Amino acid sequence: MKYKTIIEPFRIKTVEPIRQTTEAERAVALHAAHYNVFLLHANDVLIDLLTDSGTGAMSVYQWAGMMRGDETYAGARSFYAFESAVRDITGFRHVIPTHQGRAAEHILTGALLKPGDIVPNNRHFDTTRANVEHRRATALDLPVAEGLDPQALHPFKGNMDLEALERVLRENPGRVPLVMITVTNNSGGGQPVSLENVRGAAAIARRHGVPFFIDACRFAENAWFVRTREDGYADREPIAIAREMFALADGCTMSAKKDGMANIGGFLAMNDDAVAARCRNTLILTEGFPTYGGLAGYDLEAIAVGLYEALDPDYLRYRIRMVEYMAEKMAAAGIPTVRPAGGHALYLDAKRWLPHIPPSEYPGWALSLVLYLEGGIRAVEIGSVMFGQRPDGTEKPADLELVRLAFPRRVYTQSHMDYVCEVLAHVNTLASRIRGVRIVEQPPALRHFTAKFAPLVPGVIA
Ligand SMILES: *Cc1c(COP(=O)(O)O)cnc(C)c1O
Repeated sequence: MKYKTIIEPFRIKTVEPIRQTTEAERAVALHAAHYNVFLLHANDVLIDLLTDSGTGAMSVYQWAGMMRGDETYAGARSFYAFESAVRDITGFRHVIPTHQGRAAEHILTGALLKPGDIVPNNRHFDTTRANVEHRRATALDLPVAEGLDPQALHPFKGNMDLEALERVLRENPGRVPLVMITVTNNSGGGQPVSLENVRGAAAIARRHGVPFFIDACRFAENAWFVRTREDGYADREPIAIAREMFALADGCTMSAKKDGMANIGGFLAMNDDAVAARCRNTLILTEGFPTYGGLAGYDLEAIAVGLYEALDPDYLRYRIRMVEYMAEKMAAAGIPTVRPAGGHALYLDAKRWLPHIPPSEYPGWALSLVLYLEGGIRAVEIGSVMFGQRPDGTEKPADLELVRLAFPRRVYTQSHMDYVCEVLAHVNTLASRIRGVRIVEQPPALRHFTAKFAPLVPGVIA
């Protein structure tokens, strides 16, 4: 290309004002939220990077599709538009809409798992893990070694350890009813999986006669990484890469809140007639009739359009570049992050950035509070608050203390990102003064959503 600047490949037709607050106002809001950013009112947040799930902006074509939405109970036109888009991209025969990705996981695990089973995955996303464990089966993560080292510069840190997969299947005959692979690997830092690795995992699963499913939430971002990093794909369209990947699998689960570019929705898709019939029976019980599955007709239309928009090369170039741009700015400012940058988020490495705060004082959590206080930015800790609570109530520090800045799709512009970088550079000057936090009150599980915290030094965060 002739010019180097990568632009936002859209212009803005509708705007949503965001509100500046003073540091004093944010201090009051943070106190009222018990030093937990999940408990803040969104109205008090300037740049919300809590998640990229369901927070994207829809295009004019998606909104037009919503107006076309057919709300017929059975056999709605919108369902057939949705089914045809999902089939066109994934090639799977059976397309089952669900209200979110986790509902697809719930139905699939219910159809395939029994107590004592094992499900290997490169890395389970937390809802996938919870659904596997709900069936009293074991969710087994098999990441490659590079995926465990935040500094290792490997192009496909999301890959699965195929030797380990082979071993697990060989040593547990009859106990592995499902192999999954998550693209991109969300819990592993949004890191991509190579097509070679998907092909290898699929071949091993097939040899052992085990169904192979893709957790496809970020399939389009993954396709872009394959195109730019894997030999032989530089000239392939993202949609062709996606089709090649899906052709290797027996089915997929999907959250349309990610690369479906929609605010809600998901699906389960597969080729097996008998399993699909079982899944549809559960769907009727828990989600709705098979042609709407917990969604409005207009949601189905938004997803049908969004799946193609997620695969647009101009969009993907801008999307992936934005995260990379942030990571480069962090590196230049001497701020430690997980490298290389992932597809949907920047991960700050709080353990290396704030070495004076031990895991027992939750450095990532403290950092998330400082980002809000200093810049009105909301991010999420992925560390010892999120993962350090054992079922028996004891504490076990997480391997990594990260803070994730996830980027909503098509929502923030370059100046928003430059602002975030400026705030982070300022926080860097305060780093040695940032203090830890303690937990005042917590629920027995998934504590990060609702726990109450206090600064260790009363009133002092930084
Ligand atoms: C978000 C997500 C899910 C769950 O989808 P929901 O729509 O939030 O239920 C599953 N797997 C991965 C990798 C995800 O990122």
